[in-house]
Amino acid sequence: MRKVTIFGATGSIGQSTIDLIRRSPGTYDVVALTGGRNIARLAEDAIALKADLAVTAHEELLQPLREALQGSGVEAAAGQGALLEAATRPADWIMSAIVGAAGLAPGLKALEQGTTLALANKESLVCAGKLLLATAKQHGARLLPVDSEHSAVFQGLVGEDMDAVERIIITASGGAFRDWPIGDLPNATLAQASSHPNWDMGQRITIDSASMFNKALEVIETREYFQVEPDQIEVLVHPESMVHALVGFRDGALMAHLGAPDMRHAIGYALHWPERRDLPVARLDLTQVGQLNFRTPDAARYPALHQAYAVMERGGLMGAAFNAAKERALDHFISGHIRFTDMAEVTAKVLDRIEAQSGLIDSAMTLDNVSKIDHLSRQAADVAVAEDKR
Ligand code: NDP
Repeated sequence: MRKVTIFGATGSIGQSTIDLIRRSPGTYDVVALTGGRNIARLAEDAIALKADLAVTAHEELLQPLREALQGSGVEAAAGQGALLEAATRPADWIMSAIVGAAGLAPGLKALEQGTTLALANKESLVCAGKLLLATAKQHGARLLPVDSEHSAVFQGLVGEDMDAVERIIITASGGAFRDWPIGDLPNATLAQASSHPNWDMGQRITIDSASMFNKALEVIETREYFQVEPDQIEVLVHPESMVHALVGFRDGALMAHLGAPDMRHAIGYALHWPERRDLPVARLDLTQVGQLNFRTPDAARYPALHQAYAVMERGGLMGAAFNAAKERALDHFISGHIRFTDMAEVTAKVLDRIEAQSGLIDSAMTLDNVSKIDHLSRQAADVAVAEDKR
């Protein structure tokens, strides 16, 4: 039996991972499931999968979790310390699917046990790519990409030499507002931004798709994971979301990865890697699809994308500042404090402010320094929002 742990088990990626595990009874021994506020789902899955341990990130929810698990034999734990402890429990495969920078510390701890970490939590790579890769190398651990674009690139590179790679193209659906008049974007509501034309995902990443902050993070993720230069990374708007990424080689060949928009493909690829196994995803019928469209992202519609390239050019800990500013700006949009288009203005202001604090961005990439930048950037985002309201 293969020992597996799922961080962020109650979320969209976590639930798709559980779906795949459930389809192969007797194959997986579930060590730990972690969640946040959705105690009912966490307990129900932990019991059904006979997990050893269920952890909620929130200490105040320990008692409700204990009650929900009563008599099941599943151990209950809560809080940051418990999340980190879960990451030390031996497992052959660990899914990192907590949303946001909160996924970084458990991911690093998991790598320290030399396991395979399936990384959906792109924010870890954006905030601390070098640290993550160095930790994996030091402990003989393996990082497998789960983002559909990065899984597609990874698959396109099997058997290839990175020196032969000229460029990497990742696609973007364009999100909920790709065809809206730009002048209407400031008035986009939370409900409108939370509805994705092609993918069924968690609310935060869905809104980030509409603003292209998600693609901005993915561009940085591409640089960190595949160690390519910023000018080797391109983004194309592809409304059908069927071509997930393309790898361009020095001889002019373009290798494209196509598949139905279903995250169980990328998750399943990481779960079964290096083998390919049957997966319950729809098969594409290209005669039905008929036409695939591609266009250059409109810079005025998607300012976040330009910011990602500036962040990569600046380097250091700028990725952590960008991610934290983005997370906080998104919190403020969700709470109704700012408009949809204000999010990119907030991140731009934060990047300027953090850059102005001399030396900070160039400090060593340690978990402590990343946390410090994260904290300061969230504060700077709050200040930017408050100033805007005056
Ligand atoms: P969801 O919001 O659906 O789920 C997030 C998970 O993280 C839930 O289990 C949630 O718990 C938990 N969580 C939230 N906050 C914290 C915290 N502070 N500490 C610990 N756990 C926490 O997100 P998604 O599944 O959509 O995304 C997960 C990750 O995967 C993100 O990094 C995202 O960018 C990435 N990703 C997602 C894709 C998708 O299709 N959804 C595609 C590619 C990448 P609870 O809900 O119980 O509060």
